[in-house]
Order: sequence, then structure tokens, then C-alpha cells
Amino acid sequence: MSFKNFSFNSRIAANIVAAGYTTPTPVQKQAIPKIMQGADLIGLAQTGTGKTAALVLPMLQRLMRGQRGTLRALVIAPTRELAEQIHETITSLGTRTGLHSTMVFGGVGIQPQIKQLRRTDIVVACPGRLLDHIGRQTVDLSRLEMLVLDEADQMFDMGFLPDIRRILTHLPPTGCQTLLFSATMPAAVHRLADNILNNPVKIQAGNDAPAHTVSHAFYPVAHHLKTALLLELLGKTPTGPVLVFTRTKHRARQLGGKLAKVGYRSTSLQGNLSQARRRDAMRGFKSGKYQILVATDIAARGIDVAQVSHVINYDMPSTPEAYIHRIGRTGRAECRGEAFTLLTGEDKQMARAINAAIGRPVERRTLEYFDYKVPGPAGGNQPRQRGPKRSTGKRRGPKGNRHTGNGAFGFLSPRRARKQGRAALGSPA
Ligand code: AMP
Repeated sequence: MSFKNFSFNSRIAANIVAAGYTTPTPVQKQAIPKIMQGADLIGLAQTGTGKTAALVLPMLQRLMRGQRGTLRALVIAPTRELAEQIHETITSLGTRTGLHSTMVFGGVGIQPQIKQLRRTDIVVACPGRLLDHIGRQTVDLSRLEMLVLDEADQMFDMGFLPDIRRILTHLPPTGCQTLLFSATMPAAVHRLADNILNNPVKIQAGNDAPAHTVSHAFYPVAHHLKTALLLELLGKTPTGPVLVFTRTKHRARQLGGKLAKVGYRSTSLQGNLSQARRRDAMRGFKSGKYQILVATDIAARGIDVAQVSHVINYDMPSTPEAYIHRIGRTGRAECRGEAFTLLTGEDKQMARAINAAIGRPVERRTLEYFDYKVPGPAGGNQPRQRGPKRSTGKRRGPKGNRHTGNGAFGFLSPRRARKQGRAALGSPA
């Protein structure tokens, strides 16, 4: 099957070619004809399956006919990053169609948005700022023809469902074509779908399971040795762009800084950053300026970097669904990816849940030259520095540390790895 089968408008067809898409992904094959027929739809599809183009292409096709400069399609997404991602897809697949898309989210000035909203065909919005515009009457949803709720499960997790319900009261009384995409289907999202969708077609890609292009590994380790193990892993694994997940914003910032300090081109993405710094982190990761991005779950929503080769869970995610979301950032669009998870004693239950979600036990690996027995500092849980005692003033020689042979922290810095002729990630150019 090719995109030609959908008989898209010639400008849209040219943009598909320019984007380098040759064959529709399974989600696109299923969803595009149904959406073009005007059906409501539930798409159970994780990120990385091509679901954005699956909803954007028929949307553009529909909007090609009809009045321009009137808001006719609204996409609601849980995070700014995801909204930006969708907006970018609309912009690239909608080049030279004369259709305009406007992003609406908080953390940036409202006035430019108000100006753009006066004449736009599509809005991609986060719920809070959209409600703000509704309250100010600077957006008019009364002529909507299409509504998309993207990553509905994440909107639920983030407490946005009441906002969504308020937004829905401003839709045209006759309703509009509604699409709901979600990686998982918690009961609350099910109820929402039942309420707002009209006889929806249901499509499923991946059966809640992660993409088949991703391989998984657990690395059991004591809590206080996590950073050392991460660095050892990075030093020994030839990788492309790497996404590291932590549970807290604080830890994302700290770890991003630590990796940069030892020579990796790394940065962090977490909710405390200003919009400008979030954008720098995202764009820098996309462009290759940063090779490692340390992020929290929420900040990482919508990260679309085609070639993320490794997702490393520094901290275990809190649900199997979150694991699937995280690793959805690698193995995208049929590229191969690896998902590594550092596993501490307290993560056993979640490991079992992940095994169940994946449908088989995840392989457990140990690193050959890593000293797993180094005791933690009394009363603390930070990795102990395992280098030669400074007081002796003597160096241990080229092998560095006697436990691992990999320097004072028990890991390979990019510089050191280069010296040893080993593949290391992010070596400064
Ligand atoms: P998504 O699941 O929408 O986040 O898309 C994941 C990635 O797949 C994005 O980088 C898209 O540009 C890419 N993509 C979407 N559709 C196709 C396709 N038919 N062929 C190749 N790549 C695609």
C-alpha cells in the first residue's frame, strides 16, 4: 500500500513525499481512510507509530475545502512539547496549502496568540491556556469541524480531564468529528470516550505493547551505584542520541549536569525550566547539539527525535504504561532501539508488571567489570567515589581504579574511553 491510495490533494501528496514517507505505517493504514470518511475514532496507539501524521493528513485534506481563516480543527495535547510537535507536523505536511496552525499553551505571552487566533484554521492547544482564551473570548470554537484529543491517558494522569470537559461545552451544538488517541485506556479515558465519541471506529496499533523494534534489558544495581553504572553503561555502549529518564525534576537537573561535567554533551528537560530553556533542550537534542537528554516523564511527552537509539530508565517508571510511553521514544518508525532500566531492590514489583506488559521476562544483565559490591556511604545513598586516596598523592597508573579499571568514579569518561579506543557516547568533537 502507498500513500497514493488515499488520493490526497496534490499539495498534501507532495508534502508527504518531501517528508520522506513512502509507505503508510499500520496506524496510518487503518486510521486515514476512516477519518477521511468522517468517522469518530479511538486510536489506541503509542507514540512512535506515526499517529500524528495519521490524524494530521486527513485533517488537512478536510480543511482544504471550505472557508479559510476560521478555526475549524482543534487538537488538544497534554504538554507544550507535544503541542509543538503536532504543530510542526501540521506545518510541514501543510506547506503551501494556505492553511494556518496556531499553538496555544502557557509559559509564553498571550498577546501574540490572541493576534494569531484572529485568523487561523487549526489550533493545537494545551488545556489550561485554551480555557484562558475561551474565558477572554479570544478563541471561538463554535465552527469546529474536527476535534482531536491526543495522548488522552496522559491528560488524565495530569488531571486535565475536568478542563477537557469544560472545553467540550464550547463546541458547536451539532457536534464535530472527534478523534481520541491514547497509548493506554484507563477507565476514566474510556468513560470520556463513551461520552463524547459518536459510534467510534476503534483502531489499535501495538496492542499496548511496545514497538517490536525495541529490545529491553534490566540492569540490577544497588541504589547508591546507579550513577556509576549509568556512566559505565554509557561508556561501553555505542549509541546515537540517548534519553535518560529520572523520577524527579531535581534528579534530572542534577544528572544532566553531572553528565555534562564528565564530558558528555548532555542537558536536562524538566518542568522547572523556562519555555526558552525547554525549547533549547528539545531543539538541541533534535539537532545533535546534545547527545544525552535527561528528562522526567512529563517533560519528555512529545519528544520526537527520530533516531533515539537508547532510552535509559535511571529511575524505574511508576507504572507499566509509563514504561511503554518512555520506551516509545526509541525504536520509532521502524528504527531499532534499546531500552535499559536500572533496577534496584525496591523496583521488583514494577519489574514484574513490566514483564507482564511486554509479554515476556526482560533480560537481566550485569556489566562484567563493574564492581557491584562497593558499599554505600554510611547513612547515605550517593555513589561513593572509588578512586585512589587523594592523601597518598600517588596515582594508581593507567588502569586507574582497581575495582573497575575505569578511573576515579568507576566509569569511562568520553575522553578516557577515546584514549582506550573504546566506543563512548558524546565524545566532545
Ligand atoms: P509519531 O508516532 O506521530 O510521533 O511519529 C513518529 C515518527 O515517525 C515521526 O518522526 C514521523 O515523522 C515518522 N513517520 C510518521 N509516518 C511515517 C511514515 N509513513 N514513514 C516514515 N516515517 C514516518
